Amino acid sequence: MHPIRGGLNYNLELRWDGVPSLADALRMLKEQAARTPAPQWVRVIGGWTEFQFAERRMPTLDEINAVAPDTPVFVMHLYDRALLNAAALRAVGYDKNASNFPAGEVHRDRRGNPTGLLIAKPNANILYSTLAKGPKLSREDQLNSSRHFFRELNRFGITSAIDAGGGFQSYPDDYGVVNELHRNGALSIRLAYNLFTQKPKQEVSDFQSWTKMTKPGDGDDFCRVNGAGEMLVFSAADFEDFLAPRPDMLPVMESELKAVIRHLVENRWPFRLHATYNETIDRALNVYEEVNREIPFDGLHWFFDHCETITDRNIERVKALGGGIAVQNRMAFQGEYFVERYGSQQARRTPPIQRMLELGVPVGAGTDATRVSSYNPYLSLYWLITGKTVGGLSLYPEENRLDREEALKLYTVGSSCFSTEDGKKGALAPGQLADLAVLSGDYFSMPEEEIKRLESVLTIVGGKVVHATAEFSELAPSALPVSPNWSPIKEYGGYANASKGALGASHARALSAVCPELSTKNHHVAVLGDLGFWDLGCDCFAF
Ligand SMILES: [Zn+2]
Repeated sequence: MHPIRGGLNYNLELRWDGVPSLADALRMLKEQAARTPAPQWVRVIGGWTEFQFAERRMPTLDEINAVAPDTPVFVMHLYDRALLNAAALRAVGYDKNASNFPAGEVHRDRRGNPTGLLIAKPNANILYSTLAKGPKLSREDQLNSSRHFFRELNRFGITSAIDAGGGFQSYPDDYGVVNELHRNGALSIRLAYNLFTQKPKQEVSDFQSWTKMTKPGDGDDFCRVNGAGEMLVFSAADFEDFLAPRPDMLPVMESELKAVIRHLVENRWPFRLHATYNETIDRALNVYEEVNREIPFDGLHWFFDHCETITDRNIERVKALGGGIAVQNRMAFQGEYFVERYGSQQARRTPPIQRMLELGVPVGAGTDATRVSSYNPYLSLYWLITGKTVGGLSLYPEENRLDREEALKLYTVGSSCFSTEDGKKGALAPGQLADLAVLSGDYFSMPEEEIKRLESVLTIVGGKVVHATAEFSELAPSALPVSPNWSPIKEYGGYANASKGALGASHARALSAVCPELSTKNHHVAVLGDLGFWDLGCDCFAF
């Protein structure tokens, strides 16, 4: 996932992760717009999908303008589009006469005025470049924001994460906050981070300067450099927007990627590469094999991220070169779009996790949060086990689903080898780091549908309690006020946390609109769960 960037921005973001209805989401947006002082924006940046809503649709621009007439609002959905209200269009200067739009599609009305809909074509550049025009948090607030985000991860029992870098997440400038928390002993999760190039066409120079500045393993068990990626060269980045056709990488991809891989292998830097489609993976493997013939990889750790459509043949090539595959539940958020474009037959092995395991490739599991998937790890485990999307669509046959133990293994031991920490974390065993979580229910015996509602009641990192609730409440670390005080996190928390935001009232109303015959059933009414958080389960999505 991308926890460092996520942490720097967390207190600025209104999270729709897990919010059960669009009515609730719009109500939160309205309240937050009223609370947010100029010139700040309200940002909803990923972690949700239209299919999670009872209404099963996106908000419209009219709805967003109606609930936020004056405060700039930027709502991003997956990697496919962003909705800006009129105040946000004014703030970024997008009008009829504006020039120099970032690459991407700006939707316009008949008079040529931008409507506020930005579409990620051919990639997400326009979404991120526009987002970057908004005000940032102060350094003090970034420290607070990161601590709150890491606490939020602890709430779900996360004790370690491998950070995949990210766009606009520059090394070393944007790592000062995490380093300061680390120096002060204030990190509540362990981080191993990969360095992500920010310079199209000059990627080699980025990696040349970084291999001079630092090296993999620099740091300690709490915070360490892990290698390069997931962006190695921009010409190899195949964004996973299943609403659009597969992008074909330009012919220059091979030569650019080869220069970077050569440099990394020469310097013995582990690397990871974002790759969605088999066509991209095929070409990357050609490059890797060529470099390996000149400078043997010789056990160097490397892996692909994602690999939704990888073939058996290419899984075998990954194995032969000593690589691994990190899978994430991106299909849980956009499987519906994939099926619409490629059909349910192709979706059955997208990604082919069981084949990866049968063919003996190391596999790790995660979320890829925070901008497509939510960071809630139980949505990812639920997806691995049931093969279902967040919206309830069944994607995989039995033979491409995992049992609970196998899924958990990929999430823990499996991922530990991607930070070259196998044997050190991922299991409760003598000699391993003292990190553990006690969950709110029995993962191994509870009904499948309950898995996505799990949280941690006690999380321990390095022998220290970093999260405690319910029967462990008295062990909880001291409260940390949220700053700035208008932050949506102060009001709503992160992943739908109705103990803070009183979700559910508008949910019930929304449900009666979409499925009146079902809305009277008990399980559609939000109820207070036995641990004090709301039961947001809704079987409305089953049809
Ligand atoms: Zn990626």
